[in-house]
Amino acid sequence: MGKIILILNSGSSSLKYELMQMPERKRLGKGLVERIGTSMGKITQTCGEKKVSYEMPFPDHKVAMNEALKLMSDKDSGIIKDTSEIKAVGHRVLHGGSKCIESMLVTDDVIKHIEEAVAWGPLHNPPNLIGIREAQKRLPGVPQVAVFDTAFHHTMPPHVYMYPLPKEYYKKYGIRRYGFHGTSHKFVSKRTAEILKKDPKDLNMITCHLGNGSSLAAVKGGKVFDTSMGLTPLEGLMMGTRCGDIDPAILPYLAKHGFTAAELDNIMNKKSGLLGISCLTNDMRDIEDAAEKGNKDAQLALDMFVYRVKKYLGSYMAALGKTDVIVFTGGIGENDGISRRMICENMESLGIVLDLDKNEGLRGTEAVISKPESKILVMTVPTNEELQIALDVYEIVFEGK
Ligand code: AMP
Repeated sequence: MGKIILILNSGSSSLKYELMQMPERKRLGKGLVERIGTSMGKITQTCGEKKVSYEMPFPDHKVAMNEALKLMSDKDSGIIKDTSEIKAVGHRVLHGGSKCIESMLVTDDVIKHIEEAVAWGPLHNPPNLIGIREAQKRLPGVPQVAVFDTAFHHTMPPHVYMYPLPKEYYKKYGIRRYGFHGTSHKFVSKRTAEILKKDPKDLNMITCHLGNGSSLAAVKGGKVFDTSMGLTPLEGLMMGTRCGDIDPAILPYLAKHGFTAAELDNIMNKKSGLLGISCLTNDMRDIEDAAEKGNKDAQLALDMFVYRVKKYLGSYMAALGKTDVIVFTGGIGENDGISRRMICENMESLGIVLDLDKNEGLRGTEAVISKPESKILVMTVPTNEELQIALDVYEIVFEGK
């Protein structure tokens, strides 16, 4: 008999949940509470053909969790008969700092570490903690596991994770590169090795998680060597609304023009990237539609996005020495043939030969999209962060790993 695992992603104004039966990897159903903390919120739940959605106020996460647990075990529209069927909970946590380097059973110490990492994940770690505390209260005695977005990247060596700032800031403020999207990079790199029937130890790959948030990881023999996000998810690629890498001197320059630190933070995280350049949207589909119709700002946004991925790809190929596989995942990576084609264009001399016919229109499936003569295999592998969380929880709670 399988074990039912509840996967929770508690965000600043939302609560996502999914129930999965393990080890069968059976997705039982999922739900979303939106607009927590505003005057009117919404809860939506799907379970096979059954879909329920209604509005009600969710003043805080307590009310949201209460309603989610009620709805998932509802007699008519529920996913399970009773919440006592939940045998473990997996929490997505953004930042584990330097102490949480793998998925861990939640203890007082782990909670302390998550609290310490609030400084680097101020928007995510506090709601993540609320989710953990609420689940502990409402499901007493059920093991809780924290799965960190930073953990998979802990194998980066010091010359990769250090910033060339005065070294004392590393000790004093914990300033170093941590990396994010670790759950996705872990799932996709393992799945790729599985598909290729190889031991991850025998593969060097570059996993490209391209979505509203985007990051690349150079995974050497199954371990992350480098990844494009840093102390926070702002470093690296140009994203939906985040700027990614910019000259840091821009900040004091803008400060001289009167921008405060909080304003600059908001601009770089919420008003930049595809949105900032296109002056239109952060959604890649709309950017491509607009570019197709001749919108020059949208075309520039697309060109910049693609160029910056290409530059990182090239630098990671240099860092790895030998690259066996390049994997595309995330909303853009899995679905967008245009971006994939543009990223891989003119890289034949570097060993990348895309099969344009296979690539075109390929969406959300596991596939090889390079030609047989390509020295580097190019693939699409849909990510599944919820499944990776369930796998980690199952290993820790039921297999004692
Ligand atoms: P994610 O954050 O991983 O959910 O990815 C969201 C991004 O994926 C958005 O920019 C979407 O426009 C993009 N996306 C999803 N489907 C497609 C598609 N068929 N073609 C192009 N972009 C897509």
